[in-house]
Amino acid sequence: MPSSTSALAAAEAHSAHNYHPLPVVVASADGAWMTDVEGRRFLDLLAGYSALNFGHSNRRLVEAAKAQLERVTLTSRAFHHDRFGEFCAQLAELCGMETVLPMNTGAEAVETAVKTARKWGYRVKRVPDNMAKIVVAANNFHGRTTTLISFSTDPVARADHGPYTPGFEIVPYGDLTAMGAAVTENTVAVLLEPIQGEAGVLVPPAGYLPGVRALTRERNVLFVADEIQSGLGRTGRTFACEHEGVVPDMYVLGKALGGGVVPVSAVVSSAEVLGVHRPGEHGSTFGGNPLACAVALEVIAMLRTGEFQRRATELGERLHHELGRLAAAGAVTAVRGRGLWAGVDIAPDRGTGREVSEKLMDRGVLVKETQGATIRIAPPLVISEEDLDWGVAQLRAVLTDR
Ligand code: PLP
Repeated sequence: MPSSTSALAAAEAHSAHNYHPLPVVVASADGAWMTDVEGRRFLDLLAGYSALNFGHSNRRLVEAAKAQLERVTLTSRAFHHDRFGEFCAQLAELCGMETVLPMNTGAEAVETAVKTARKWGYRVKRVPDNMAKIVVAANNFHGRTTTLISFSTDPVARADHGPYTPGFEIVPYGDLTAMGAAVTENTVAVLLEPIQGEAGVLVPPAGYLPGVRALTRERNVLFVADEIQSGLGRTGRTFACEHEGVVPDMYVLGKALGGGVVPVSAVVSSAEVLGVHRPGEHGSTFGGNPLACAVALEVIAMLRTGEFQRRATELGERLHHELGRLAAAGAVTAVRGRGLWAGVDIAPDRGTGREVSEKLMDRGVLVKETQGATIRIAPPLVISEEDLDWGVAQLRAVLTDR
């Protein structure tokens, strides 16, 4: 095994620098804990940006993957395989919908949602050719493809990647009046994160999502909920939309759907909406592959028990209570979130998000900054109460030991 120093040097010399990772080199992981190449242990409070909701090396998921590895891993969609229909049926049922279109990464699934909404707009809603418009929110994060960054408001994500894809209108997140004004007869979809993750775990005002639901229904526009980060247990419900009693027209799922084992993403909607795709019009070599389906079926089965949603609710209350105390002490200026998910704005006199993340790493806790002054806390939902308390105690120490 390489040392941390040599692994970091190799990455520095030979990898593109499109990330700024913390200098920790993980060699193994289990549950909420990771171990580096020198045997140091770290509590993972990021969970692969919520891809690891069920923890590292989850036995059920690893066993399902191993069993599938021994049988068949890839057929492409040129043929059927024996896990595909079952996966689509189970995922559709979990979502209370009819039809699934599987892809691999989150960005691919959002692209699929965009393509589906446009096609539905032309073929069902009868929007004039090439006039389809999709309304999105400021500070969104939907992925890194050229189309998706075309409607990002993050100048760093957009810079020097033009020309940009047209057909999107950006409105302030949480502002129903602006949304109402932006939706026109050529609007085919509203695409939103029900809680904005990368923006710093921004929860929209109560009533916003139901308002968007009513507006989109009234104007014959698809409500597309990107639940790639917020969905599958993180907020204490299977879908973050549920907190507001909202059912969108389309869910976009990813991250935890593959249990942190394989990339699995999907668009889930009605037969009418996803029925617009005909053979040859869209696809992916790896989308819906046997290994992905085997792991995702296990993920779906675990979500059906409700145990992870319950844990997220209970542990989330504990986390938010403790973070509230840090806010009262002036160490943080804001705490947002739902369930076992928090965006914490660090008081400027306590350091930047990056500095706090580095100090936490030195104490054996891994988080990552976002938007400069914010750290995001999203532990695996399997974390124990003791470990969560210990992790928050380390944050308290970093913010108050001066
Ligand atoms: N949508 C949301 C809400 C996300 O949080 C992310 C990733 O952070 C994506 C889409 C993109 O997913 P991926 O990185 O798998 O392409």
